[in-house]
Amino acid sequence: MKFKNTLAFARQLDENDSIGHYKQAFNFPIVKGKKVIYFTGNSLGLQPKRAVDYVNEVMKDWAELAVEGHFYAEKPWWDYHERFCEPLSEVVGALPEEVTVMNTLTVNLHFLMISFYRPTEQRFKILCEEKAFPSDQYLIQTQVKLHGLNPEDAIVQIKKRPGEHNFRTEDILDAISEIGDELALVLIGGVNYYTGQVFDIKTISAKAKEVGATIGWDLAHAAGNIKLELHNWDVDFAAWCSYKYMNAGPGSASGAFVHKKHHDNKEIIRLGGWWGHNKERRFLMEEDYDPILSANGWQVSNPSILSLAPYLASVEMFREVGMDAIIAKRNKITSYLEYVLEEIAKEENASYEVITPSSQEERGSQLSVLLHGKGRSLFTYLIQEGVIIDWREPNVVRLAPVPLYTSYEDVYNFGQILRKASDIL
Ligand SMILES: *Cc1c(COP(=O)(O)O)cnc(C)c1O
Repeated sequence: MKFKNTLAFARQLDENDSIGHYKQAFNFPIVKGKKVIYFTGNSLGLQPKRAVDYVNEVMKDWAELAVEGHFYAEKPWWDYHERFCEPLSEVVGALPEEVTVMNTLTVNLHFLMISFYRPTEQRFKILCEEKAFPSDQYLIQTQVKLHGLNPEDAIVQIKKRPGEHNFRTEDILDAISEIGDELALVLIGGVNYYTGQVFDIKTISAKAKEVGATIGWDLAHAAGNIKLELHNWDVDFAAWCSYKYMNAGPGSASGAFVHKKHHDNKEIIRLGGWWGHNKERRFLMEEDYDPILSANGWQVSNPSILSLAPYLASVEMFREVGMDAIIAKRNKITSYLEYVLEEIAKEENASYEVITPSSQEERGSQLSVLLHGKGRSLFTYLIQEGVIIDWREPNVVRLAPVPLYTSYEDVYNFGQILRKASDIL
């Protein structure tokens, strides 16, 4: 499609946008009397209005029913988490029994690594990407130490080639082959948080299997953003947070995936707790741990219902809209943003550079822009003008025109604000 950098053109795109009305379903911060242009849904998604109702419902049930709410609440708490299995499995391409909600993201990765990183003398290495999100680096380092191993021997990082902004799939595949039968686990972020690069999850997962390694994915920036087929791609495990593209609120419960083939394998060590115990017998207070034979069997504690409630509201919206519609708009609006950035750069003779891959298969909602000029002052100016973006050292801003609540007009308006900042570009 040939784009134009005009208000009329942007409005035309909005009129033809089949999911444009979902913008009304969210609460926006107000700056200078106007709704902000919100480009940080990759960090913390906006609040769905429906989430407020869902949380209020739990507060009301708690007030009126107290402990009886476990069984008699509008949505009973004892199996509240099961309401997620169907709709969330559609978001990540899984079977309903392969998905659960529990804890928070890094905690879930720790729990899953207890089950799926079982190093032996021969096979003990973990392959991850260099400069992974810090929490993932600490996770991997400490898991390795938990097994009495030295991170320097056990952790192999895939590197970018000098002068390049993104990882090459071929380099990852080569690294997997090279480590071969020493490779215990491949654990990578499915979408790189810094550049927005989408990894080829299918191909990398298949390669890991080929050398006999386990494959896990951190899908923090992937869930609700890109097309996933975790079951078909034969991924062993994955986890994601709910507060980025999935709009469930700060620190809300995380999602986790465990492939069906592992469910009834009693050899796999799990850290036990009563919520993972045979559901029908949970309240019999039996001595022996008998885990549920589904992803729910990885639960430990009774979950915070107040954290699940906004997530459920959001997951139901995803089900209504469907990932295909979200991805179709995502591709178009991200391309429009890229176009507007290029147009403004040309007109204002500005020097910045999008470092996110340009192909739609290799990116999601996020464009990371490397600023060569006075980056920090541009960032401050945009925030003051009601454009919410984020800053990553040393000089990158990340812009995510999240399809559920960003309009094409927002993107156009952003360009006009950027143009006014031309002297600091
Ligand atoms: C956001 C993010 C996290 C955050 O972890 P929490 O446990 O939810 O605090 C971890 N890893 C990656 C890759 C992330 O993008």
